[in-house]
Amino acid sequence: MKLLVATRNAHKLLEIRAILHLPGLELLGIDDFGAPLPAVEEDAATMMGNAVKKARVLGAASGRWTLADDSGLEVDALDGAPGVYSARFAGDGAGDAANNRQLLQALAGATDRRARFRCVLALVAPDGRSWTVEGVCEGTIARAPSGTQGFGYDPLFVPQGAACSFAELPAAEKNRISHRARALTAAVQAWSALLREG
Ligand code: IMP
Repeated sequence: MKLLVATRNAHKLLEIRAILHLPGLELLGIDDFGAPLPAVEEDAATMMGNAVKKARVLGAASGRWTLADDSGLEVDALDGAPGVYSARFAGDGAGDAANNRQLLQALAGATDRRARFRCVLALVAPDGRSWTVEGVCEGTIARAPSGTQGFGYDPLFVPQGAACSFAELPAAEKNRISHRARALTAAVQAWSALLREG
């Protein structure tokens, strides 16, 4: 079965490809599809809403079983922000470096640095049925960025039980403990029969 992965984020696609292996399952990136697919405005109020929207729009356009990932960082001292707005915390079009600076500024002087990454995955069938699962990785926000692996807030996020940031961990270790890994494990448990159906 071919499963379209509805993301234009090359890092997410790389991680999903590294983690998700099921016999007979072939993952197609948007660039592998062979025809232009529409851009999706991520304007839902929740990660679940955005994940389902991305999977639905690209599933309808492609006619394929489609998987979408919407994820973000929730910081306790910021009442769960940036959350669903993680990609644009420092403004529309802001890059990872600006978002990380914005986060450090928002937490200047904060002693409670607890946070978690959340990943919501949506699966949509060609007939429009949809399912969601999620995964969470608890951790804390460091006082300065470190490391060069990964993407997004990885240089500032220290997962629980680790002594360094996600960006300092080998990819295989991040992919073992991350929110995305946990969501994909839940996805395989919940959807393996569906993924054989397609
Ligand atoms: P979206 O899912 O496209 O709305 O964007 C998710 C945003 O959350 C990314 O642009 C990153 O800023 C952040 N994010 C999600 N997952 C990760 C991760 O694994 N590491 C670091 N940042 C992440």
